[in-house]
Amino acid sequence: MSASGEKSDLPAGASGGQVVTRFAPSPTGFLHIGGARTAMFNWLFARHHGGKALLRIEDTDKARSTPEAIDAIFAGLDWLGLDWDDTPVFQSERAARHAEVAHQLLNMGKAYKCFATAEELEAMRAEQREKKLPMRYDGRWRDRDPSEAPAGAPYVVRLKAPQSGKMTIADQVQGNVTVDTRELDDYVLLRSDGTPTYMLAVVVDDHDMGVTHIIRGDDHLNNAFRQLALIQAMGWPEPVYAHIPLIHGNDGAKLSKRHGALGVEAYRDDMGVVSDAMFNYLLRLGWGYGDREKISRAEAVELFSLANVGKSPSRFDAKKLINLNGQYLREMDDTALAALVA
Ligand code: GLU
Repeated sequence: MSASGEKSDLPAGASGGQVVTRFAPSPTGFLHIGGARTAMFNWLFARHHGGKALLRIEDTDKARSTPEAIDAIFAGLDWLGLDWDDTPVFQSERAARHAEVAHQLLNMGKAYKCFATAEELEAMRAEQREKKLPMRYDGRWRDRDPSEAPAGAPYVVRLKAPQSGKMTIADQVQGNVTVDTRELDDYVLLRSDGTPTYMLAVVVDDHDMGVTHIIRGDDHLNNAFRQLALIQAMGWPEPVYAHIPLIHGNDGAKLSKRHGALGVEAYRDDMGVVSDAMFNYLLRLGWGYGDREKISRAEAVELFSLANVGKSPSRFDAKKLINLNGQYLREMDDTALAALVA
């Protein structure tokens, strides 16, 4: 990205409008290092601009979401000193609203009912595999009349994605990213049991929560284009995107447990890492201000900007974290230190 100033961080046409960010974890495990950093960047950006930082628990995958994971996420965020505005949104409670938007799109002719059976779709995929064609839904019900379907047959609702042209996202970290819209398929919004897909839920929730800036891991960059197609179909304002590079281990591979990457609470409980040190370490992992290593929360709020988020993956280094923690511990007064040990 070009070295843009602070102003470009703000949504076009929203000058004077309030910045609203969100952290949207799926509660399928503890708050890991990557999630914690994403949460921090959202929080810092909102606080820097005097806006709102919102929290949304994406608990639609009932089989994998657990109350323990939700508690661990809340506890981890709390420990890092990240407070959130408004009450947290639980995505699973909003299914009716998600379905409502799918039906609105149907009525507007921007979505359609697809009656293709599982066997039919499997045959379609097998053919695509064989012919080495891109694997995607071929739009077979896009222009067909629903009356051609057998009476009472189950259907899914699919988005009528744009079929030609290009789509560009002016990502605040990645720069301009363009895709050919032919690469976007008519993906499913509502399943045949009427439940919303993840893609629909995210877009509707971000819109209803008034989110202006979506700051998240770059593993979601591909999703952004599909989500944008839905936002455009609804005629909703487009958010500003910032996809931050994932954290890697010291060997350059995507960070995992193998690298000793744990939930944030493990660093607190097992390694005696203090909150300020963890905050400082995660801040510097992917964001920089000159060569400053030690930065307090208050300074971070003052200095944070998306323009200073690095474009390449950062490497998690537990030794560096422990080292920084040592500096914080040495500066603590006796009372605070005693409380910590207790
Ligand atoms: N729930 C998603 C995750 O935990 C994040 C979705 C998003 O930020 O849009 O990866």
